[in-house]
Amino acid sequence: MAHPIRVGMTAALLTMLLSAGTLARAAEPAWLRGSMDKLKAELSAAIAPEERPRLERGLAQVAQFWQETDGDAAAFEAFVREHFARDQAARDAVFERFERLLEQVDGHMAELGRELRTQADLDLGPILPVDELFAGYEPGAHILDDFFQNKLAFVVLLNFPLTTLDERLTQGPSWTRRQWAEARLAQRFGKRVPADVALEFARVTAEAEQYIAQYNIWAHHLVDASDRRLFPARMRLLSHWNLRDQIKADYADRQQGLTRQRLLQKVMERIVTQTIPAAVIDNPAVDWNPTTNDVRASSVKDADSPRPQTGPVSAEREPDTRYATLLATLRAARKIDPFSPTAPTLIARRFDENREIPEARARAIFEAVLSSPLLSRVAHLVQARLGRRLEPFDIWYDGFLPRGTYSATELDATVRQRYPTAQAFEADIPRILERLGFTHERALFIASRIAVDPARGSGHAMGSAMRSARARLRTRVGPGGMDYKGYNIAVHELGHNVEQTISLNDVDHWLLAGVPNNAFTEALAFVFQGHDLNLLGLSTPDEKTLALRTVNQYWMTCEIAAVALVDMGVWHWMYEHPDATPAELREATLAIARDVWNRYYAPVIGVRDVTLLAVYSHMIDSILYLPDYPIGHLIAFQVEAKMRAAGSVGQEFERMARLGQVAPDVWMTQATGSPVGPEALLDATGRALAEIGAPR
Ligand SMILES: [Zn+2]
Repeated sequence: MAHPIRVGMTAALLTMLLSAGTLARAAEPAWLRGSMDKLKAELSAAIAPEERPRLERGLAQVAQFWQETDGDAAAFEAFVREHFARDQAARDAVFERFERLLEQVDGHMAELGRELRTQADLDLGPILPVDELFAGYEPGAHILDDFFQNKLAFVVLLNFPLTTLDERLTQGPSWTRRQWAEARLAQRFGKRVPADVALEFARVTAEAEQYIAQYNIWAHHLVDASDRRLFPARMRLLSHWNLRDQIKADYADRQQGLTRQRLLQKVMERIVTQTIPAAVIDNPAVDWNPTTNDVRASSVKDADSPRPQTGPVSAEREPDTRYATLLATLRAARKIDPFSPTAPTLIARRFDENREIPEARARAIFEAVLSSPLLSRVAHLVQARLGRRLEPFDIWYDGFLPRGTYSATELDATVRQRYPTAQAFEADIPRILERLGFTHERALFIASRIAVDPARGSGHAMGSAMRSARARLRTRVGPGGMDYKGYNIAVHELGHNVEQTISLNDVDHWLLAGVPNNAFTEALAFVFQGHDLNLLGLSTPDEKTLALRTVNQYWMTCEIAAVALVDMGVWHWMYEHPDATPAELREATLAIARDVWNRYYAPVIGVRDVTLLAVYSHMIDSILYLPDYPIGHLIAFQVEAKMRAAGSVGQEFERMARLGQVAPDVWMTQATGSPVGPEALLDATGRALAEIGAPR
C-alpha cells in the first residue's frame, strides 16, 4: 500500500542515510582536550553538583562533532559558556524554543515540498517539463548542514543527551514523556555525514532503482514447448511484483493456471540464477521459452515501439548485472560506515536506527513464525484445497480469500453512487469516523484537519508536520465516480490521515509526533481498510471467512519472513566478503536462498534447493527494507486483536495514535500490553485453523 508520506525512494534513502551516521573523529583539534578540562573546572564551580554529569556529557557530545572549521579554542569555549543551560529552568526554556521552532521549520518545509509537487501529484492536467524540475527540488535538503554551521545543532548536543538503541530499549520504558522528547530532539543531530559520501550513496541507489524499474518480462512472448503463447498480447510483467501477482491471479484459472504458474516460476529462477538471456529483458521483439532457454525474433508485434531486431537473437545470459548492482550499493554503504561508529554497518543502521528493533530480535521473531508447527498444518490445508501436491510457487497461494458476497460490478455501482467526486468522499468523512466509533465531536475535528485531493496515481496519504496545516488524502476518482478499488485504497489512506492527525495534534510533545516506524502507521491504516464494506452499509464477513483471512495472513507472513531472512543473510555475506565478484555474490545468494528454503519450506512442500526466495526486487533496490513487511503483519495482528477485544475501533485508535514516536516495544506495550512479537499472529492462526476444522 502507498506510503503515508510520499517521497522518492532516493530521497527516502538519503534521509535514512543522513539519519544514520555520526561523525567519524578523523583528527581531533589539538586544543580540544585542554579546552574541555578548562570549561569543566570553570563551569562545575558555577552549577549545582547534580548538574555536573550533564555538563560532562554535553561537553563530550559537542567535542565529538566539533571540527576546526567550526571555530578555534576561543570560539569553542565562548560557545559553551554562552549556551550551556546552567539549571533546569534554563534548560526548559531552550527545550521549549527548539520544540516550537522545529515544528515551524519542519512544518513549512513539508508544506513547501507538497506545493512544489502539486502538479506532479494531482490530477490537474498536463505536467510541463518545468513541473518536473519543481517536483525534484528539495528545499530542506541542506537543513542539517545549516544547523551545524549556525551552531543550533551544537546547542542541542550541549544540553540534551544522545542515546543508543540499547539505552532507549532498556531505560526507555521508565522515561518520562519529556525524556523521550529530549531523546528524539538529540537524535536529530546525532550525525554529520560529508555531503560527497551522501551523494555517492544516493547516486548508486538511484541506479539500482533504474535497473529494477526497467526489468519487464513481456508475457505474451513467453512460449511453452509447443510454441504456445499462454498470456495475452501486450502483457508486461515487472519483476518481481507482477510476476508474483500473476502467479496469484492464476489460481483462479482452472484451465491454464497451473501451466502458466510453472512457466513464471521458471522465469523467476532464470532471473535469480542469471541464466536469463539478456535479450529478453524488457524486449517485446523476441520470443523466449524459459524452460529450454531458446530465444528468437518474434513474429508478433504487440508493442508500440519495440526495439528493432535484425538478424539472429543472442541467447547470451545477463552477465550478473543483478549482483553487480547490489555490490555497488554495498560499496557505497561501506563508505558511510566510518562516519557511524555507533551503528557501523548498513545492517545496524537499518535495524538499530531506522527500525529500532535489534536485528537479533527480528531474526528470532521470523524464525519463530517459520518454525511453528502451524506452517505444516497450513501447507496441508493448501494442498487439500488445491487437490494436488504442492509446488514451490505455492508459497504465493492466495485461494484462502473467498470470492466476496458481492460482485465487482455491484460494489463499483454502490461506490460510484455514493462518491461521484473526491469532494463527496471528503464530505462523508465525519460519518465514516462516527461509524467506526469516534465521538461526534472528535469525528468533526479530525475531518476538519483532512483535505481530499484528486490524485494522478492510485492514491496516497500525506501528513503535515505542523498543527496549523492539514493532512492530505489523495485519491483517484474517474469521470464516472469512484470505483470499489479506488474506494478500498481511499479508506486505507484515510486510516493514515486519521493517525497522522491524532499523532500530530493530540500528542503531548510535538517532538514525539508520529508513530515509531512505518509498520505502525500501516497497521493502523489496515484497521480502517478492513472495515470498508461495513462503512458502505454492506454485510461484514462471517467467522469462517475471517478465519480464512487469518490463515492467509499467516501464509503470507511466512513467505515474506523467509524472504527477509535471505535478504539479511545476503547483506551479512557481503559485509564479510566486501571484495567479492558479482559471480561469487550470485553463488552465495543462491546458497543462502536454498538454505532458508531447505530449513523451512522443503519439509512442507517436499522439494529441495529452490531459489525463488531470492527473486524480490527490493533486495536490489530497497536495501534491507524487506524485514519491515513481516514485522508489519505482526504489528497489525497485535493492534487488531486489541481493538477487537475492546470492541471499538475509534476509542482504541485514538488512544494508540496518541502514544507518539517512542520505541516500537514501548509503544506496543502501552498499546496492547506486550512488546512486538509473533504471539498474536500464531494464536490467531491456531484459533482460525480450529474454526475451519483443519486437521491437527
Ligand atoms: Zn499504507
